[in-house]
Amino acid sequence: MAWDFETEPEFEEQLAWMREFTREEIFPIETLDLSYEDVLKVIAPLQDEVRRRGLWAAHLPPELGGTGFGQVRLGLMHEVLGQSPYGPLVFGNNAPDSGNAELLAVGMEMTDRHDIRERWLEPLLAGTMRSGFSMTEPHTAGSDPKLLSTTAVRDGDEWVINGRKWYTSNGSVADILIVMAVSNPDAHPYQGSSMFVVPVTTPGVTIVRDVGSMDDPRVVYGRFGNHAEITYEDVRVPADHLIGPEGSGFMLAQARLGPGRIHHCMRWLGQSQRAFDMMCERALSRFTHGSMLAEKQTVQNWIADSRAEMHAARLMTLQAAWKMDREGAAAARVEIAMIKYYGATVLYNVIDRSLQVHGSLGYSADLPLEAMYRWARAARIYDGPDEVHRQTVARQTLKDYRPSEVPTEFIPARAERAREKFAEALELLTAANA
Ligand SMILES: Cc1cc2nc3c(=O)[nH]c(=O)nc-3n(C[C@H](O)[C@H](O)[C@H](O)COP(=O)(O)OP(=O)(O)OC[C@H]3O[C@@H](n4cnc5c(N)ncnc54)[C@H](O)[C@@H]3O)c2cc1C
Repeated sequence: MAWDFETEPEFEEQLAWMREFTREEIFPIETLDLSYEDVLKVIAPLQDEVRRRGLWAAHLPPELGGTGFGQVRLGLMHEVLGQSPYGPLVFGNNAPDSGNAELLAVGMEMTDRHDIRERWLEPLLAGTMRSGFSMTEPHTAGSDPKLLSTTAVRDGDEWVINGRKWYTSNGSVADILIVMAVSNPDAHPYQGSSMFVVPVTTPGVTIVRDVGSMDDPRVVYGRFGNHAEITYEDVRVPADHLIGPEGSGFMLAQARLGPGRIHHCMRWLGQSQRAFDMMCERALSRFTHGSMLAEKQTVQNWIADSRAEMHAARLMTLQAAWKMDREGAAAARVEIAMIKYYGATVLYNVIDRSLQVHGSLGYSADLPLEAMYRWARAARIYDGPDEVHRQTVARQTLKDYRPSEVPTEFIPARAERAREKFAEALELLTAANA
């Protein structure tokens, strides 16, 4: 099968601009100690520049103001802007707002509900509204959403939601929460859940706390990027706050996560490359035990392995993106699962090696590596833990195989069959050699 990830020269020019813009305009902001509100003020002119270039919210289809780039080009773009935690914010595709906008757009199409656009989608895209995605619960395994226990019961023209969620990223600064709840307990779990838009000001919504985490162990409540624990107690929303048809929660979650995983993986590659660049620079700069670090075989192995692993992850991710563009997300399911765990592991390993090469400097907050290391650890958990994706790949792979009491490659059995198959030739050989 031929693979073709080539992009046109005009897009290559845009990528070159994005690389320069990210390095020169976005990287410096990382070093300033600013509140989220101040960051927004500082990046406003940069966002305007991105809009002028037609690159704002590029993940959405053109009719919604996006670019219609397709996953290969979007992936290449995410690799560049994912180098910095502020990149997605400057380009109008930061999580969870970008995924939520995609979800709303899919729900809008499924039900022909154009009011969704004006009420929630456009404010999200304009950055005047913030959102959270509230699916994971503390008391049920998030890795198996069939266990979801939050309920939504129809009562007249309203839905009544009850449940407890946590790790709703940005939940404590959000205006709306997209809540996944069981709306039909009698249906198969994959058809029994739905998504609802819940404004945070709705009575019964309580933001219990922001959860301290490796992101921020002594978390300060209400900061952008926190992960909230939220209770929903008899929360009533109008019937039109249901997104997509009733029972489409899983379908919408998949629609949200498929492209999102490609973008994540490409952003991880941008981060990996940044850690890799730091590792190579340090290896050439630090002298110990009679030579530069670059001359120690262990460090050379780390550089060589990291480069090979990043190269493999990049090709795998671009191939998954290419397949998704051609055949859709469902056809690329195995490829998307593979890049999730492979990409997350590469990210983690490259940052870990780079941090090690820098010694105590790597562990210190004088370099971005310690923060990158903490964020990289989460990549193996969010968007479904790696083990679940490995399970998907193994299960799908095993469908192509059949059990065999005697291994197919068992040499004595094969030799017997070969003797039968070539009996005539073998007889002639024996006679000739006699
Ligand atoms: C930084 C961060 C941000 C997040 N943001 C959000 C958000 O915005 N909204 C939201 O709803 N959720 C969010 N989450 C939650 C995330 O999606 C869940 O943590 C994830 O789905 C795993 O669920 P769980 O934590 O309940 O782990 P569990 O389901 O309890 O799994 C625990 C562990 O069990 C193992 N395991 C699970 N299944 C299998 C299996 N089949 N085979 C072998 N081992 C297995 C894995 O090692 C797994 O890590 C976020 C999480 C993090 C870390």
